[in-house]
This record gives sequence, structure tokens and C-alpha cells, in this order.
Amino acid sequence: MSGMTDWRKVSPNKEHGFVICNCNGKLVKGKQTVGTKNSLKVDANCPCGNLVASFHTHPKGIPEPSPKDISESYKRGIDCCIGVPETGVVKCYRPVSKSKAKILR
Ligand SMILES: [Zn+2]
Repeated sequence: MSGMTDWRKVSPNKEHGFVICNCNGKLVKGKQTVGTKNSLKVDANCPCGNLVASFHTHPKGIPEPSPKDISESYKRGIDCCIGVPETGVVKCYRPVSKSKAKILR
């Protein structure tokens, strides 16, 4: 996806993220939001199309969704991707219940 290459450079010590929207088959980023060291409220508005996933960082953390990440993604019916700026690892999960998610890649 275009624009994904620079995510590690944005505020390495604060969580940041954006939603991913499907605009007629093309994946488009929503507005990037910066939070605090360990919390973030992503702007869930799509510039076009449908909300399909959200991406956010876990600075100095692990690329696994927190219980809150899972429950919020489940509630919205979207996938949840987590990136760790220090390692560049990005993993995406699909919630299967409000407390469980399976890894996508
Ligand atoms: Zn998280």
C-alpha cells in the first residue's frame, strides 16, 4: 500500500495510527492520528469507501493486539494491524470474538 513505508518515522515514542478504507477496490489511508505513549484514539472516518481495517503502532512493544484493540476491532467488524517502529514488524489480526483474534499475516 502506498504511504506505508514512512510509518516508522512518525513519532517513534507515541502511538500513532490510521484507518484503512476500501475505495472501489483500492486501499486508502484515513487521517493519521498521534496519541500518547500507550494510548490512541484513531480517527475512524474514511475519506471514501468502507472501513476495513485499522493500523496503529506499539512503540517499544509487541506486534500483538491488546484486549482493548481486539474488542474495539470486533465491535467495528474490521481487521486490526499493529506495527512496532523499532523492528518494522507489522502484523494483522481478525477478531473472531470480543476477546480473541486470529493472525492474518
Ligand atoms: Zn494497541
